[in-house]
Amino acid sequence: MELFQEFLPIAILLQPIKIEFGGLYSQKNSKNMYRSTITDVFFDLDHTLWDFDRNSFLALKSVFRKYGVGVNVELFTDVYEPINEAYWKLYREEKISKEQLRRGRLIDAFNDFNIQFSLQQIDDMAACYIDELPKNNYLLDGAIAILDYLKDKYALHIITNGFKEVQHIKLKNSGISNYFKTVTSSEEVGLKKPNPVVFKTALEQAGVSKEKTLMIGDSFEADILGAEAFGMQTIFYNYRQEKVSDGYASVNSLVEIENYL
Ligand SMILES: [Mg+2]
Repeated sequence: MELFQEFLPIAILLQPIKIEFGGLYSQKNSKNMYRSTITDVFFDLDHTLWDFDRNSFLALKSVFRKYGVGVNVELFTDVYEPINEAYWKLYREEKISKEQLRRGRLIDAFNDFNIQFSLQQIDDMAACYIDELPKNNYLLDGAIAILDYLKDKYALHIITNGFKEVQHIKLKNSGISNYFKTVTSSEEVGLKKPNPVVFKTALEQAGVSKEKTLMIGDSFEADILGAEAFGMQTIFYNYRQEKVSDGYASVNSLVEIENYL
């Protein structure tokens, strides 16, 4: 008891120093900071593990070949990608339907090249693109390496805003479906990230409480702010090098996730 009393003031004295070091440590080098609390890690799929831009480029190439579109696919992609992003934002916000998304992104991109197609041709090309998209299955650099690193330490899951019909094919054809215990697509839920119901449904399917979960994704709005608002921890996959507000864990490459988990 006496010994304890003698040591107690020292322990109290040391405590603030320990906390200060902890703070500095977690900001500068957050090695494994989530390991003691997190049991389940949720990944976004498109642009996070699955190389959407590269696979989309190859799908467009097939569509153009099939429909005899005489536009350079590289040039078209430069125009198409920001248009696609903007349409996806509207789709997430429930402002447009799946059909409007699939039509609009092609019509607008072709308009930029002063090319008009009939609505039927656009619908045919849109359907062909959706068919072709999951046939190309490049993953982003480090995807397999980080899944191998995480798979024995955590239960892994997918939460995706993509369409149910293609997301399962993408996971299977890219050879990563076995890493994941559950896959929740917004289409099944009827709402999209960042809507908290999507995260709630995914966690219910996984059978885990939010305090033990962490979300990794490339959309700051849908994945990071959405998951954070629901009460999950987050790591922003910031491969586009966007400016990130202080206080958010972020990585520029997938393998850097090892620093946190
Ligand atoms: Mg994404």
